[in-house]
Amino acid sequence: MAENKTENKKTGKNDAGKNDSGKEAVLPPKSDFSEWFNSIIDIGQIMDVRYPVKGLYVWYPFGFGIRKRVYNIIRDIMDNSGHDETLFPLLIPETEFMKEADHIKGFEDEVFWVTHGGVTPLDVRLALRPTSETAIYPMYKLWVRSHADLPLKLYQVVNTFRHETKHTRPLIRLREITSFKEAHTVHATWEDAKNQVDEAVGLYTDIYKKLSVPVLISKRPDWDKFPGGDYTIALDTIMPDGKTLQIGTVHHLGTNFAKTYDIMYENAEGEQEYVNQTCYGISERSIAALISVHGDDKGLVLPPAVAPTQVVVIPVLFKDTTEAVMNACNKVVSDLKNAGFRVEMDASDARPGAKYYKWELKGSCLRIEIGPRDLEKNSAVLVRRDKGEKQFASLDGIVETVDAELKQMAEDLYTAAEEKMNAMIAPCETTEEVVAQIGKGVATLPWCGCEECGMKIEEETNGSILGTPNVETEIKKGKCPACGKEADQIVYIAKMY
Ligand SMILES: [Zn+2]
Repeated sequence: MAENKTENKKTGKNDAGKNDSGKEAVLPPKSDFSEWFNSIIDIGQIMDVRYPVKGLYVWYPFGFGIRKRVYNIIRDIMDNSGHDETLFPLLIPETEFMKEADHIKGFEDEVFWVTHGGVTPLDVRLALRPTSETAIYPMYKLWVRSHADLPLKLYQVVNTFRHETKHTRPLIRLREITSFKEAHTVHATWEDAKNQVDEAVGLYTDIYKKLSVPVLISKRPDWDKFPGGDYTIALDTIMPDGKTLQIGTVHHLGTNFAKTYDIMYENAEGEQEYVNQTCYGISERSIAALISVHGDDKGLVLPPAVAPTQVVVIPVLFKDTTEAVMNACNKVVSDLKNAGFRVEMDASDARPGAKYYKWELKGSCLRIEIGPRDLEKNSAVLVRRDKGEKQFASLDGIVETVDAELKQMAEDLYTAAEEKMNAMIAPCETTEEVVAQIGKGVATLPWCGCEECGMKIEEETNGSILGTPNVETEIKKGKCPACGKEADQIVYIAKMY
């Protein structure tokens, strides 16, 4: 694997696209998705995989710049929908963690334990949170008193730890999830909590719309729901290799945790009742999704909302005209900066080809080139990262042009991704058809709804039932291939990450 430590002395930033010897590192074609992904994480300066603990990775500043903007979007959407941000401790006492039986069963194989303080064994072991229900709910018991306290809608963005035994991968399968946005809400009735689940699914869909990532939304089958919950709605996206990536889950917890942690409220009639709860989460898989869905053979293609560099200005310099061209470029850069765009100028002595390569790899959305001949015509050359075609724009009104191009780019990225995703879903009627389909995308199949048939279908197809689409689809229903009974629902089946 190409390593990547070249320091740019001037900026103190690592140079994307270079390996240790300063040579350009080569990105494999995206058709070889697994290699492409590993490579883009490295030479695209997203994460450094060389940290000496399995499943723990280090954010490069460039990758963290993307992460910061993605989480700004997430925080905005949460804050503007009545959620408050909070922060709970990382450590959970074993006594609280072990209270909810199903929850323990779901997580006990994955928990890291703190067993000692210095050399002294702890009386009560402390779990590194794998998720925070058991940290938060004992406090909710203290905080919730009456119906006037409800709904309570809190979220936090934290790291969580899971001892994954499967092959770990940056952003996708980690032992330290660095960026877990988890929300935990409390409601009076089951119906209120259900409405919150629906709202959360809508918020998550909005978040992914802003990242131009299309999603499949489905209700997970019972055997795959959150341990200790009533039901789970999940958001998945289809990766370029046809496997799906779960990029968000929303859980209706009913009164299960309320009964375990004794969270009660006084209703309007003065009676004590158990609360109903939901929880929902998004992790840095959101970043894996946006990188994978949009990227291409040249590198990152980033939606303008999250690209660290939205516009790069490249002066085309010749001896006699250097000053005039630099003046024009400086003006464009400062006008765009003043308008709030993230702009960089690349006036280095690198060859034009090397500059294009570098900024394309980094997913800069728009390249503006200005040379002496452009200046004579008072114009600039614009190249959008996703289209790669040259167009000319007048230097007057360049800010408006850039604004319009970036908006259009976000829309075009979504449309292209959605078309690609829909083309990767095929309706199937038999398990043989499913087997042929799920190597390259998602299959739909009629299912009677019984667990035994579901298990049989998963076994025969070697795939996973994602669940029942939560919106009516036009895909025709038919007979459950496992039992032959008429099925009143269809399910998505895929190979999952
Ligand atoms: Zn059946």
